[in-house]
Amino acid sequence: MENVGNKLKKHFPNMIFDEPLGKYSTFQIGGPADFFYKLKNKNELPAIIRFCRTNNIHYFIFGSGSNILFDDRGFRGMVIKIETKEIKVIGTTIVADSGVPVSTLLNESLKHSLTGLERWIGLPGTVGGAVRGNAGCNGLETKDVLLKATIIDTETGRIKEAGSLYFNFSYRDCKLKKTGEIVLDATFKLQKSSKSPADQKKIMQGLNRRRLQKQPFGLTTGSFFKNPSPDKPAGMLIDQAGLKGKTIGKAQISAKHGNFFLNIGGASSKDIIGLAQLARRKVKAKFGIELEEEVQIVGKNKLIKLAKDNAP
Ligand SMILES: Cc1cc2nc3c(=O)[nH]c(=O)nc-3n(C[C@H](O)[C@H](O)[C@H](O)COP(=O)(O)OP(=O)(O)OC[C@H]3O[C@@H](n4cnc5c(N)ncnc54)[C@H](O)[C@@H]3O)c2cc1C
Repeated sequence: MENVGNKLKKHFPNMIFDEPLGKYSTFQIGGPADFFYKLKNKNELPAIIRFCRTNNIHYFIFGSGSNILFDDRGFRGMVIKIETKEIKVIGTTIVADSGVPVSTLLNESLKHSLTGLERWIGLPGTVGGAVRGNAGCNGLETKDVLLKATIIDTETGRIKEAGSLYFNFSYRDCKLKKTGEIVLDATFKLQKSSKSPADQKKIMQGLNRRRLQKQPFGLTTGSFFKNPSPDKPAGMLIDQAGLKGKTIGKAQISAKHGNFFLNIGGASSKDIIGLAQLARRKVKAKFGIELEEEVQIVGKNKLIKLAKDNAP
């Protein structure tokens, strides 16, 4: 019988084997994926998923890796990086492939004198990642600007268009986290701007400056935990639990922002998870509050929840 590797080479000639994942995550942590595919054309995705399902291959898709912790041991299966890049403006809407970086989306809106996305200045990631996590900053979340998206049901392979309400958005959450559906493209509803692009840029630069003042630089995925409530941000709780600046191995809780975990050079996923467990334990003991991670922890063949699985 033909082995899976040969079949993959035959059906998907650009498949990469034993690809280290660290270089694809902003943490720069992660061992090799057995199979790795850079998806340039969204029409290929149904066939890839069908292949994985038929051959019992675990798969994981991602965008720019700014909200992911890959395991040191890598991934036993296929990791698919979405690099689809089509973007078009239709009237006051922008339709963008899920692989389009949020920064490109913003630039495109300015180029066409559209307003509505400016507050996303400095938000890392792709359109697909933003939809799944209802990402946002400066008071603007994906749910506020998403009109609809094209998604694929990974069980049936069916592709459908879903309006914003379908996603059941809430703080850093959406229905796709349960269903596993994948975003192929998304349509954002904007308005015509009365300001010049230069004035729009000035506002954005101001917002970005303020944002950067609060955040540390370095290898990080931004906020590690969700904020339990607006008046109890995770960073403040971790700070008051005495953990700012705490290190385990080569991982550190930033001394500037308690919810930013940093790889200070050669950290392992174990180091980061050790810190996260410590923060959860200390915050629970001091405040009786269970922190829930915002970062997606990718175990050796599936997503892991710290609270549920306790450790990968
Ligand atoms: C310095 C820094 C600051 C940050 N600040 C913020 C902030 O202010 N607000 C905020 O919300 N986030 C913030 N983040 C986190 C991150 O930028 C967002 O979560 C972003 O939306 C992730 O996008 P991504 O493409 O990198 O997703 P990835 O990290 O690649 O993936 C994240 C999750 O989304 C899933 N996913 C990716 N693409 C798709 C798709 N097409 N369909 C379905 N699921 C998909 C993946 O499977 C994974 O589970 C920050 C990160 C960094 C590094």
